[in-house]
Amino acid sequence: MSVDPEKLYTILLNHFGDQKWWPYDPEYHKINGSDPRFEIMIGAILTQNTAWSNVEKALFNLKKNKSLTVKTIVEMPVEKLKLMIQPSGFFNQKSTRLKVLADHVYEKYDNSLDDFFKRDLQEIRDELLSLNGIGPETADSMLLYAGNLPIFVVDAYTKRICKRIPIKINDESYDEIQQYFESELSKNLTKKDIVSMYKELHALIVELAKNYCKTKPSCSNCPLKQDCRFKLI
Ligand code: SF4
Repeated sequence: MSVDPEKLYTILLNHFGDQKWWPYDPEYHKINGSDPRFEIMIGAILTQNTAWSNVEKALFNLKKNKSLTVKTIVEMPVEKLKLMIQPSGFFNQKSTRLKVLADHVYEKYDNSLDDFFKRDLQEIRDELLSLNGIGPETADSMLLYAGNLPIFVVDAYTKRICKRIPIKINDESYDEIQQYFESELSKNLTKKDIVSMYKELHALIVELAKNYCKTKPSCSNCPLKQDCRFKLI
């Protein structure tokens, strides 16, 4: 009875199916000629400490106002931005974070996400981490889902599941879990397959935590119950 990241991926994929993350609106960007990568980056900030359903409301307001671009966020008065993103909570902090990110891309990369993302992964990551309110989970979500770069996102759900099953890691730090998942998952895969697998597994872990492995787990129908030591049945 043991679960490694690859087995976790297989079990969860069989149970939940392909999650096709990150959720964004390709049709909107097609019609408006905007860059969907910035919607993903905005979403990564807005989803901090809130449910995705609240983020969707904030994104809806931004879309209604045709404001899902770097330039529109740079030019928008901060009070107006706060009103639009209010449904996502912590709108004072998050409006500042969005402004800082947009200003950074606009000024340093001449409004080009191509230029922003075409550099070395670690260089972009360090730069994102140096910006106000962007921690490892937010930075890695942007790198993986907007930048299509091979980095595994660790969140509180990943930590919870690793602890409960348990998945063998030396400590529960963000970096340790990330390195373990990456080293296990990247064996025998091309870069393109790695990126797809990282994207999918993070989404599947979120699905597991929302449906079964909650604060108080519902183990009876959990796809991992055969392999989990923590199970409460
Ligand atoms: S069996 Fe229970 S504790 Fe274990 S992963 Fe599933 S829901 Fe979580």
